[in-house]
Amino acid sequence: MPVGQLLQIGRAMTVKVIGGGLAGPEAAWQLARRGIEVELYEMRPARSTPAHQTSHFAELVCSNSLKSDSENTAPWLLKEEMRRAGSLLIEIARATAVPAGHALAVDRVIFAEKVTEAISQEPRIRVKREEVTEIDEANDITIIATGPLTSDALAAEIERLSISPGNPAARLYFYDSISPIVETDSIDSAKVYKAARYDKGDADYINCPMNAAEYNAFIDALLQAQSVDGHDWEKLNYFEACLPIEEIARRGRDTLRFGPMKPVGLADPRTGKWPYAVVQLRQENLRADSYNIVGFQNHLKFGEQARIFRMIPGLEKAQFLRYGQIHRNTYINAPALLRESLQMKHHPNVLFAGQISGVEGYVESIATGQLAGIHAAFLAQGEDPIPAPRETAFGSLVNYICHADPKDFQPANITFDLLQHLDEATRRRIRDKKERHRLVCQRALELLDEWIRQIGVPARISGTART
Ligand SMILES: Cc1cc2nc3c(=O)[nH]c(=O)nc-3n(C[C@H](O)[C@H](O)[C@H](O)COP(=O)(O)OP(=O)(O)OC[C@H]3O[C@@H](n4cnc5c(N)ncnc54)[C@H](O)[C@@H]3O)c2cc1C
Repeated sequence: MPVGQLLQIGRAMTVKVIGGGLAGPEAAWQLARRGIEVELYEMRPARSTPAHQTSHFAELVCSNSLKSDSENTAPWLLKEEMRRAGSLLIEIARATAVPAGHALAVDRVIFAEKVTEAISQEPRIRVKREEVTEIDEANDITIIATGPLTSDALAAEIERLSISPGNPAARLYFYDSISPIVETDSIDSAKVYKAARYDKGDADYINCPMNAAEYNAFIDALLQAQSVDGHDWEKLNYFEACLPIEEIARRGRDTLRFGPMKPVGLADPRTGKWPYAVVQLRQENLRADSYNIVGFQNHLKFGEQARIFRMIPGLEKAQFLRYGQIHRNTYINAPALLRESLQMKHHPNVLFAGQISGVEGYVESIATGQLAGIHAAFLAQGEDPIPAPRETAFGSLVNYICHADPKDFQPANITFDLLQHLDEATRRRIRDKKERHRLVCQRALELLDEWIRQIGVPARISGTART
């Protein structure tokens, strides 16, 4: 039986979207703009998560970066596909962008306010500020977009839905961390400098240079620093791309100099040379009154963070607006549970989106929210969803979460590794990596445009009619 016919209904039914983070509002808006009534559930402010600080939708809980915006990179391709397919959040991100070199970064406060406003003004979305603890998989079409910090009661309910004969691997956990933010006024401008790596693009980052003695003293202090909970530490299973800085330091004295503190291409204008190591700060908001310490997510006690990060040249008197933290990350075993329409294999009325679906990152979360919204709109109208082509970034992300090894499933960001390679003859003919990437993106966008002709695009926020 076609999936879309599971619900025998005369008219489109209301779809429940759970989670008002990044994926949920995008999904709700896609549904509403396709004529579907939506109930959007968000438990904040009555109940918050360890990372959220406001009751706004689309709160960015750590960095304010939506990754690279350089043409023909994989994160750019995903954002471009989202834009063409009519993403609300990408449009708002562009409208609230702050300078960040080749990246798309936003003013997190204005971004969240604008998303909240757009959702509140959408007549087909009813917002319900309550915690959801039960799913009616037989009678409701539901998108679960409750993120890495899904409440415990709902996590137990997801476990119930996930366990089926021969499929006991219900859910996994891992942990990652958030990076600290400092007040701009507290940075010693005489010791730092602005520069773009290899002078490419605008000099948006503040660089704090270190000589060898300063770097070694900093590493010694990091290695001796006290973590929040030494007991839990041993049990943590970090996501490799988001390691706490002290964990990176433990892997070797120079590991940080080849990672987040890499000095290459960042010549200090006072010496004309690359320093021994560099700590980079990225602008947080449009007012530019705060900067985050790039890649400095950590698991140290707050007092230890203040003491050790003030050893960084230029940050001796830093005022911290937020310290780094460790947090839980909950995600389902997507390869065992999901089909390419983001529906559960055993409960096709239930779809997953966002970080909990097994993708990693803000943009990837919004992207899966967009897809789940589009697919659920088809379901609500009694039709079969049309998955995005495999060659697109959308399709590649979904292909990964549906077909990775379920035994050792790890969430992933969008990268060229996930995209389908060019055929062998073309690969042999074209040796230049940049040119290959350009061709992969070109192919993706051509196929995307065909898919969009099938699924339609909702009116833009500023918008006129459907295109
Ligand atoms: C601390 C932290 C730092 C991160 N840093 C970055 C980063 O710097 N860059 C990056 O790209 N990604 C980062 N991520 C990963 C990921 O991109 C974000 O978590 C992103 O917000 C995920 O979007 P989402 O919509 O899936 O979940 P969320 O944005 O977390 O939204 C889920 C929403 O569901 C609500 N909710 C939970 N349970 C219930 C319930 N039972 N009923 C009703 N509502 C519920 C929550 O309150 C929340 O508002 C980070 C994640 C965490 C936790």
